[in-house]
Amino acid sequence: MKLKSLEISGFKSFADKTKIEFKPGMTGIVGPNGSGKSNIIEAIRWVMGEQSAKGLRGEKMQDVIFGGTSKRSPLNRAEVTIVFDNSDHYLKTDFTEIRISRRLYRSGESNYLINGQDVRLRDIVELFMDTGLGRESFSIISQGRVEAIFNSKAEDRRTIIEEVAGVYKYKQNKERAQKE
Ligand code: ATP
Ligand code: MG
Repeated sequence: MKLKSLEISGFKSFADKTKIEFKPGMTGIVGPNGSGKSNIIEAIRWVMGEQSAKGLRGEKMQDVIFGGTSKRSPLNRAEVTIVFDNSDHYLKTDFTEIRISRRLYRSGESNYLINGQDVRLRDIVELFMDTGLGRESFSIISQGRVEAIFNSKAEDRRTIIEEVAGVYKYKQNKERAQKE
């Protein structure tokens, strides 16, 4: 599975529709402080189902909608679309290309789409389950998180490593079974 492209519009500092295409190999995004690098990563987390406004450096979810600048009025809608090449069927669906979109209006109305079909958040979460992607996974390590990992206690660091290795969910299942 490969990340193909990302389209951002009305999300945080990206008022105009912006499309980023990911070519084979590694992609680096560079720019001065405040130019929107972290906003791009947050757009990826958001479209993949992030539910925490604080995790996106906001108070409420509507804070992700472009809030205006001295030269430009605020917008009413944020929309992000991410496209994956799924020709290896790493994600358990028949689609060889998957387009996931999320929209949010100031009114609070929101929706998710998979390949143009209206879906529930649950469908997005299930699509990424046990893939090491999706919300709260360690496939995205944000600014500040690196220091947090370095400075954490040995036991907490172990939990992170177990989660990455995929052992954590078995440990949780074991604990649950022992309680029952
Ligand atoms: P650094 O190098 O300091 O980490 P960065 O490139 O990661 O910077 P971001 O944090 O992605 O920068 O972008 C911050 C900018 O995004 C700020 O100028 C902020 O005002 C703007 N911004 C955040 N949310 C919104 C919003 N809802 N509407 C408009 N602009 C926003
Ligand atoms: Mg940043």
